[in-house]
Amino acid sequence: MDITRIREDFPILGQKVYGKPLVYLDNAATTQKPLCVIDAVSNAYRNVNANVHRGVHFLSQQATERMEAARETVRRFIGAGSTEEVIFTRGTTESINLVASSFAKAFLKSGDEVLVSEMEHHSNIVPWQLLAERVGFKLLAIPVTADGLLDMEAFRNMFTERTKLVSVAHVSNVLGTVNPVREIVQTAHGHGVPVLIDGAQSVPHLPVNVRELDADFYAFSGHKVYGPTGIGVLYGKRELLEKMPPYQGGGEMIAHVSFEGTTFNELPFKFEAGTPDYIGAVALAEALDYLSAIGMEAVDRRERQLCSYALDAMGAIPDIRIIGNASDRCGVVSFLLGDIHPSDVGILLDKLGIAVRTGHHCAEPLMRRFGIPGTVRASLAIYNTEAEIDALVAGIDRIRKMF
Ligand code: PMP
Repeated sequence: MDITRIREDFPILGQKVYGKPLVYLDNAATTQKPLCVIDAVSNAYRNVNANVHRGVHFLSQQATERMEAARETVRRFIGAGSTEEVIFTRGTTESINLVASSFAKAFLKSGDEVLVSEMEHHSNIVPWQLLAERVGFKLLAIPVTADGLLDMEAFRNMFTERTKLVSVAHVSNVLGTVNPVREIVQTAHGHGVPVLIDGAQSVPHLPVNVRELDADFYAFSGHKVYGPTGIGVLYGKRELLEKMPPYQGGGEMIAHVSFEGTTFNELPFKFEAGTPDYIGAVALAEALDYLSAIGMEAVDRRERQLCSYALDAMGAIPDIRIIGNASDRCGVVSFLLGDIHPSDVGILLDKLGIAVRTGHHCAEPLMRRFGIPGTVRASLAIYNTEAEIDALVAGIDRIRKMF
């Protein structure tokens, strides 16, 4: 893989910060955008901007065709069976809120149980908590081991006749752990329980096929997969989506409206109230095509290679503590340096031009599990290099010596 050529596709990476070359290692928060994605946004506004789905005129039809072609690109990228099962949302957070709200209305009642895990991002905890209060179901967390793995034995023992849904991350945004989602789905299905997978940190890094996983719902964000902000995806199995009520009301999601009663549009439009982000959808498809041209197997291989390079190099720094020790991991290395506060490490690395994230990474329960206030997190993307890891390691070593 020619990383130098790939880097040329990302204009922002050529920047200097504080006179030093930018080393961007905050990819789990958001990835940078290749020129083709930036151009797709600009071209769509220049040439084919009109509201979709309602217009008889030329531009509206063109815009609609492009948006629906983008849906087909997403379908292919994640291996869904039909575009009716691909819903455009604002991102992972909205996708999970959609399922939480609509699934709860259709299927959950007081006394039921929903399983998440201790390593979830807040956006796979709080939507459930908000509803749990209202509906009266219980939210239970699968424990995480000291190595940063899901405790699968505990998971298998959590099922009761009240368990109605499992919702877990495919890849942890703090630990980089790749969870055994195929096994999780099989176990849950053995109890007749559907599974939502939070794919925010997996779709950018691994080949994902929702049908091979047999996932019932799968959520991801455009901006973490080299696409624009404000667009994301929820995949859902048709038989479940058909039984679920609309999430929001408005235009696009209706068939007919009257004060006597309103009927709803078919899938996927039933879940897409209001003017959708049709420009974002087109640009997201461009990002997915960009990745497909490289090949997700190749992306996965390359990033795992870079991640083990980072783990080896960082692991050799005295006083470093790497949080999470999964053998199947990707994209993320979280660490603490002696007793230096993570935000001090982040601020000092920034002065060297190195962008990392510090804090609890929207995973406070996981921080509590490890008894730490937060971590420093370096997260990788396809354009990162060994030289950038070397710069990070040199930076950390310098900070260590300063303290
Ligand atoms: N889940 C995980 C695992 C994440 O890493 C993130 C983003 N950090 C989210 C959900 C939320 O994604 P978004 O903010 O794009 O909705």
